[in-house]
Formats: sequence, structure tokens, C-alpha cells
Amino acid sequence: MLEVIVSPITGFCFGVKRAMSLIEEGLGGGGKTLYSIGDVIHNPQAVEDLRSKGVIPVFSMDELSEGDTLIIRAHGVIPDLIEEARRRGINLIDTTCPFVQKSQEYVRQMADEGRKVIIIGDSSHPEVRAISGQAGPDPIIISTLEEAESVGVIDRGGVVIQTTFSREKAMKIIDKLEKHIRDLGVHDTICQATVLRREATLELAGNVDIVLVVGGKGSSNTKRLYQMCVDEEITARFIETAEDIDPSWFEDGDRIGLTTGTSTPDWVIEDVLARLREISDC
Ligand code: SF4
Repeated sequence: MLEVIVSPITGFCFGVKRAMSLIEEGLGGGGKTLYSIGDVIHNPQAVEDLRSKGVIPVFSMDELSEGDTLIIRAHGVIPDLIEEARRRGINLIDTTCPFVQKSQEYVRQMADEGRKVIIIGDSSHPEVRAISGQAGPDPIIISTLEEAESVGVIDRGGVVIQTTFSREKAMKIIDKLEKHIRDLGVHDTICQATVLRREATLELAGNVDIVLVVGGKGSSNTKRLYQMCVDEEITARFIETAEDIDPSWFEDGDRIGLTTGTSTPDWVIEDVLARLREISDC
């Protein structure tokens, strides 16, 4: 027999729930087609489900025609893309998470004040790219202490942090920046949803033999959740769906903890729980 304990914080976060309900509203009960540039969320199963309902990922706006409807993802986009959509007569459903909007507001404000904007985050992440598009001329994007060291002397700077970045790492980077920036404004824009999820996972890990981290392989917050387990020397497995579970990971009597990223749908969690019950009954 296996015992499964589910973390009290699983499934979609506030921002993804909000995005999904705006998309459902846009689909209007069926028959409509909506487009997104890239995947709406970092979860292949949710993307497939949305595709079956009429949400089609495209590479660029060139694939759209006047009157089509484009979804702005929860991560946000650069303002140029919104302007171009309007110019081409494309309708928009803006699902940018309010917390990401807040980061965008902060960088615009700091750029207006003449501060050099520094974004702590992954330069390839869509959220960071969208924020950098609103941050005045040549914002600096850094994610390591070495990069913080190479920023050099600046008179007035301003920092925001990618919403899913590690707070511990961000604070060390800020400490380093403060050594060579005379006047540094800092906005802690790390999302509490991911912080609380990490804390709940750590607490859960203390009571189980193995942790299953469920989420899209391309989801940065799910990868970080798993990496945290690895760093804390917690026995953990990163799975995307029930099919990824290997029964040989478990021994009779094991307690299994289940946690998820912020873009993992409830039905994927249900499938994983059903598979674990099957294995337990064997
Ligand atoms: S993780 Fe936080 S910032 Fe990102 S979509 Fe969810 S609520 Fe918004």
C-alpha cells in the first residue's frame, strides 16, 4: 500500500486561473477560434486541451487576419506587439497577470525617473522579455552574482525581479548591486503564489518518503520547485503526466507527497492520483 499526501497548494495559481477564465469567456461556449503567440501557458496538456476548444498557437502575428482575436499571455508581451495588433485590426484578450502588470508599471515609472532599469531574471523568459520592452533604453538583465558584479558603477538604478525567481538568490544579487549603485530603487516583485508553494512543498517533504513534482517540463516555476527539492536533498521525481510514473520508484508502505507547478491543470493531478491508486492496489 502507498499513502499519498497532496500539498495544500496545487494546481493553477491566481494568474493562470484568471487567464483561463478570460479565455473561456472569449471562446463563448464554443465555435470561436482564438490565437496565441506561442503557448498560452507552459503546460502541454493544458495547451492541447485549449487547442481542442479553439485556441490555436501561432508563431507570429503575420499568421492572423484583420478581425481575428489574439490572446496576450499571463506573462505579458512587449507594448510594440499590442500596438501592431491594434494597427492591423486584431482584437485582443489581455490575460497579463496583475502581478506582472505591476512589474511593468514599476519599470516604466523607474525609466521615467531616469533610473537605469535592472531586471533580475532569465533573459529568455517571456515575462522578462515583456518587462524589458517597457523599461526604457537598454535595460540590464541579470540572473547571477557574476553578472551583478559586471554591471559596473551606476548613479541611479532601479530593480525589479522576475515573479518566479528565487528570493534568496535575488537578495544576494541586490546586495552586490548596492555596492556599486549609489541610489538603487528596489521593487520586490517576486510572486507570493510561488513562494508559498515552495514553503508548502518543503513542509510536505518532511513527512513523506518521496515527492512527485507534477508540471510542464518547460514551466520555469515547476523546474524551480523540483530543483529546490534536489538542492535540499529531498528524494523527488519530476513528472508531466501519470504516464511518466515508474512504479519501481516506490516501496510498499511509502508515503508519497504530491506538489505541482502553477500551470498544472486539476485533471492532470486527478490522473496522477488515479495512477498512484492503481499502483498501490497492485
Ligand atoms: S505565478 Fe504569480 S505572477 Fe505568475 S501568473 Fe501566477 S499569480 Fe501571476
